[in-house]
Amino acid sequence: MTQNAIEIRDLQKTYGGGRKEPAKHALKGIDLDIPAGSIFGLLGPNGAGKSTMINIMAGLVTKSSGNVKIWGFDQDSNPRQSRAAIGVMPQELNLDPFFTPRGALEVQAGLYGVPKSQRYSDEILEMVGLTDKAEAYARTLSGGMRRRLLLGKALVHRPQILVLDEPTAGVDIELRQMLWSNIRKLNNDHGTTIILTTHYLEEAEEMCDEIAIINQGTLVTRDSTANLLGQIDAKTMVIDPASPPTQLPQAQGISVERRSDGTLALSYHAQETSAEQVLEAVHAAGILIRDVKTEQADLEDVFLKLTAKP
Ligand code: ADP
Ligand code: MG
Repeated sequence: MTQNAIEIRDLQKTYGGGRKEPAKHALKGIDLDIPAGSIFGLLGPNGAGKSTMINIMAGLVTKSSGNVKIWGFDQDSNPRQSRAAIGVMPQELNLDPFFTPRGALEVQAGLYGVPKSQRYSDEILEMVGLTDKAEAYARTLSGGMRRRLLLGKALVHRPQILVLDEPTAGVDIELRQMLWSNIRKLNNDHGTTIILTTHYLEEAEEMCDEIAIINQGTLVTRDSTANLLGQIDAKTMVIDPASPPTQLPQAQGISVERRSDGTLALSYHAQETSAEQVLEAVHAAGILIRDVKTEQADLEDVFLKLTAKP
């Protein structure tokens, strides 16, 4: 079965445009399909329109034009079903300080019309590690605990699609690990489709099957993580010489950098220069190789290349 969790067509959003504020064209016609069951990353610099897109999917922001289908339900003609299929962990910490974690989950479940018999607050509290804080007021929780509670709130109606807006921005490594293992588990055990935005490119690289990059309200690219990384053919071979070299390798298409740890970094483009040619240049300089490794491009390179100003 090939089903899309999300189908977006020519989605546009313009904010404001009143007397006081200039109009802001935040989304300029986005087309995007997100396959069911995937972990999908939405990347882009600040102000690109990521939160706007996510909030439109979640029904928190009204679009200006275009079509959005959530789990096959058109947002306009089937607002209830499309809303029921998606849960959102927002970027902002928007918790009511007078609720306890258990209270917040129960209220949220009520808002989604989940009958008492189908609620599973204890299980959610356990999953996000807040069992011992179940009865504490939200205002007494640490930032990390509040964030975990926000994740819990997104899950009360067992959505098929979970959307996370910068879930790990500014959180410590331990919490990050915990959030990621929760998210992986939801994807593995329940087949939950995960859509996330993140600033941490290495995180998207590690977590996401597919990635869309948006910039200034426009979709720049959308591909598998592996293909995106393959787009960059810049490679670096790092040589650890057996003894300090008396001369540096010289060859066309290869640039050499001496690193402070005594290694030589040779950068080249795989399409123009082969690894064999790089090694030949090293030998020609009379250098004996003690060890060699290669460094691959990462998403950061792809990101910079695709969002570079012309
Ligand atoms: P991102 O999440 O990628 O950082 P946003 O979707 O938050 O981007 O914002 C996209 C653009 O829309 C930005 O220029 C932002 O200033 C603008 N914007 C976002 N929300 C509003 C709003 N409520 N009113 C006016 N402009 C907004
Ligand atoms: Mg945002």
